Amino acid sequence: MSLMRIDIITVLPQLLKSPFSDSIIKRATKKGLVKITLHNLRKFTTDKRKTVDSYQFGGGAGMVMMAEPLSKAIEHLKSKRNYDEIIYMSPDGELLNQKMGNRLSTLENIMIICGHYKGIDQRIRENYITKEISIGNYVLSGGELPAAVLCDTIIRLIPGVLNDAASALTDSFQDNLLAPPVYTRPAVFKGWKVPEVLLSGNEKEISK
Ligand code: SAH
Repeated sequence: MSLMRIDIITVLPQLLKSPFSDSIIKRATKKGLVKITLHNLRKFTTDKRKTVDSYQFGGGAGMVMMAEPLSKAIEHLKSKRNYDEIIYMSPDGELLNQKMGNRLSTLENIMIICGHYKGIDQRIRENYITKEISIGNYVLSGGELPAAVLCDTIIRLIPGVLNDAASALTDSFQDNLLAPPVYTRPAVFKGWKVPEVLLSGNEKEISK
């Protein structure tokens, strides 16, 4: 089993700590299947005030994340290893879906850039970013929550992460079908019964 490395560049690393320290992602990290590293963009600034954003050229409301700190952070990481994808989370990117998750789950090194304000300087997108991903047609205030959604989607698909590999294969979208309804004990609750076929033990009928 190989290790997937995910490096995330963010101005709010503390926002991403909790989603990665519980449940399946925590287990995947412990098993050595994934290593997520949060990089604080402010460490790559040169001025005392650790500025990462500035006004837009041409006017327009809202600040823009400056090219220099982002470029420094990206180049610092690129000097350590080759990245299969350098992803920018963006509402105008390609819509995340299960198929994309499956493909990304086979990669070794992924870098994710979280934007803020009006987004990042276009020159970074044009010169470093290899893929732009949106988690839906709505606008959030930062790329951190989208990055957490993307990581969760990918990580549970890495072989060995889920205890029962068959579980991921029967999830919605994996086979272009939605997942069936599921039931657990007791078989009768408040008089509401579990469909009889599920208790029949007849595998062929059940999977039908
Ligand atoms: N001005 C931009 C929105 C910026 S929102 C526009 O209209 O397209 C600030 C940051 O939040 C973005 O840089 C991006 O990293 C993140 N973000 C917001 N909504 C997102 C979404 N639906 N999917 C992925 N990232 C998103």
